[in-house]
Amino acid sequence: MKVCLNYHNLGYNPQFGINKVHPIIFKNHMDICNDFNKNKNVDITITFDDGYEGVFTYCRKILNKSTIKRKIIFPIVDYIGKYNTWDSSFYLNKYKHLTIEQIKILVSEGWEVGSHTCTHTYLGNLNSDQIMNELVVSKQKLEEIINNEVTSFAPPYGIIDKRVLELSKSAGYNEIFIQKNKNILDTGSILLVKRNNIYSIDRNKNIINKINNSRLEKKKENCISSLNIITR
Ligand SMILES: [Zn+2]
Repeated sequence: MKVCLNYHNLGYNPQFGINKVHPIIFKNHMDICNDFNKNKNVDITITFDDGYEGVFTYCRKILNKSTIKRKIIFPIVDYIGKYNTWDSSFYLNKYKHLTIEQIKILVSEGWEVGSHTCTHTYLGNLNSDQIMNELVVSKQKLEEIINNEVTSFAPPYGIIDKRVLELSKSAGYNEIFIQKNKNILDTGSILLVKRNNIYSIDRNKNIINKINNSRLEKKKENCISSLNIITR
C-alpha cells in the first residue's frame, strides 16, 4: 500500500496558524512511518509544499536516516532563497525558503524536486495562458537548478480540475500530487497522487489514522484546505 504525507514548514517558534510542525513532533511522526514501512508493508512518501528552509534545517537528517524512499520538495520558484511574502500571514509568520544551494544538496542526497508554480496563485483564478506560464516557467527554472528533468507538480492549495490536469500534461508533467480531486474520473497518462496534509495539531494517533486512510482525518484536512483557500 502506498501513502503520501505532505508537510509545509517546520520550526520551534510559535506561529499564527497550523502549517508549521514542531521538529520533535515531526521526529515522532517519522518514527511511526519507519515502523509502518518496516513492519506493515506500507510504502510512505513524504512531501513538503512551498519549499521552506525549515525542511533543510529540521527534516534533512531525520529523513536521510529513515526508511522513506521518496522525499519530495515542491518549491515556489519565484521565492527560492527569499521570504514568504506570497503568504497572507507574512507579517505574523515570516519564514525563508530554501536557497538554490540547499536544494542542490538535498537532490545530491536523493531528494526529488517538483513544481509548486512560480507565484503560489490559486490556479482556479487564472486563465489558461497564465496557468501554462506558471507550469512551464517553474519547470524550466527548477530543471536548470537540479540539472535534471522535473515531472512532478503540486498545485497550490492542493486542488486539481480537468483544465489544470490537461495543461499539466501539455507542460510535460506526469505525476500530480493533490489534496482534492474536483470530479476527474479519467486522468489519462497522468498519475494523480492523493496526499494527506499534516498540521501542527496532528499527533501520533492522527498520523496512524491518516496512514490507515481514515475518512474522518480526510474530512478534517479538506475542511482546513478550504479555509486556506478562503483566506489566501
Ligand atoms: Zn503551497
